[in-house]
Amino acid sequence: MKITRTIPPTASPIYLRDILYGIIGLINETYCLKRFRKELCDYFEVKYCFLLSSGKAALTLILTTLSELSDGKDEVLIPAYTCYSVPSAVVKAGLKVALCDINPETLDFNYDLLPRTLSPKTLAVVPCHLFGYISDLDRLKTLAKDKGIYLVEDAAQAMGAEYKGQKVGTIGDVSFFSLGRGKNISVVEGGIILTNNETIARKLEAKWEALNSYNPLEKMPLILKTFFINLFLRPYLYWFPYGLPFLKLGATVFSTNFKVKKMSGFQGGLARNWRQKLEKFNNTRKDNANFYLAHTDTDGIGKIEAYQDTRPVYLRFPITIKRDITKDFYLDGKGNNLGISPTYPGSIDSISQIRDQLQRDTYPEAHKMAQSLLTLPTHSLLTRADKNKIIDLLNKS
Ligand SMILES: *Cc1c(COP(=O)(O)O)cnc(C)c1O
Repeated sequence: MKITRTIPPTASPIYLRDILYGIIGLINETYCLKRFRKELCDYFEVKYCFLLSSGKAALTLILTTLSELSDGKDEVLIPAYTCYSVPSAVVKAGLKVALCDINPETLDFNYDLLPRTLSPKTLAVVPCHLFGYISDLDRLKTLAKDKGIYLVEDAAQAMGAEYKGQKVGTIGDVSFFSLGRGKNISVVEGGIILTNNETIARKLEAKWEALNSYNPLEKMPLILKTFFINLFLRPYLYWFPYGLPFLKLGATVFSTNFKVKKMSGFQGGLARNWRQKLEKFNNTRKDNANFYLAHTDTDGIGKIEAYQDTRPVYLRFPITIKRDITKDFYLDGKGNNLGISPTYPGSIDSISQIRDQLQRDTYPEAHKMAQSLLTLPTHSLLTRADKNKIIDLLNKS
């Protein structure tokens, strides 16, 4: 364990003031959750909103609902490079994962390949807006409509982003956000489902109503975790949790062993100042991303292109590098104390638990991306000096 200023790769601070509201939420559960729901519906201008224990839980509930609405379809098309939570939710919902390779320039689907990956069994397609870069939603919408497939936006990393003047998370048939650690804003763990589709909403509502919320024994660790995050997210203390291997910070694992619950009043209370925080955090992320955009015009550093007329939120700033020279250097060297970090360890087809159910296909761009992608931190805990150090390090190699 190295005791030194250590920057988390991504961060959404939770303040003591938020925790105070969280505790009020414990007492005044119904009111806090109702209020949060109403604020979300107003802000996103959607009719229906459901609050859950995580983004994964939200996606699981969405997919089970959709599968009941369409008889027999059981495949969910996702990008071959994305967060492992996505296939985890597909499998938990009792459905099959189908993959499409990515376009390395945008991190979005490769649209030349996409039509071929669809089948009469395709239930839904799930674009993931990775790092807050927006997928080509118009294209997906048309495609989904033509084929009678549901468009489910995974906006877990893109809360507050815009696509052609519309808020991301309001364009698909149904979508979700994550309020997990390290997402655009956080209540330690949490998920939000949005939809305007009445048929979907009715069914979702019934399923959501039937879920349990957190029992007192589950609330305690959640509250302790909140204090822990409040304290140790600070760069001058983050070396401590970062050095504890059992916390597995930043590790992404495939697992269907997660709870699907209603959000608790504690989390609803923690979210009390969500709009201010979202705006503030995302503005800082955009400023920092612009700084990187201006200072990383170096040979050997690849950047991701945002589509025209989109406003990404840059949850992290992704760059691609040549594997042979740099990745190990960053991981073993100074890169990690600066929050420079790899993300998902492999493409989705490399997950052993689901490999058997996939079509025998290869996803070369997703593989390459897993090898060459690093992200730079963009969050509000970053100082000017940190950013300069990051740029120096990148430009030196
Ligand atoms: C984090 C994340 C999820 C899952 O959200 P949790 O709240 O962590 O369950 C799903 N998809 C993407 C792209 C994510 O980044």
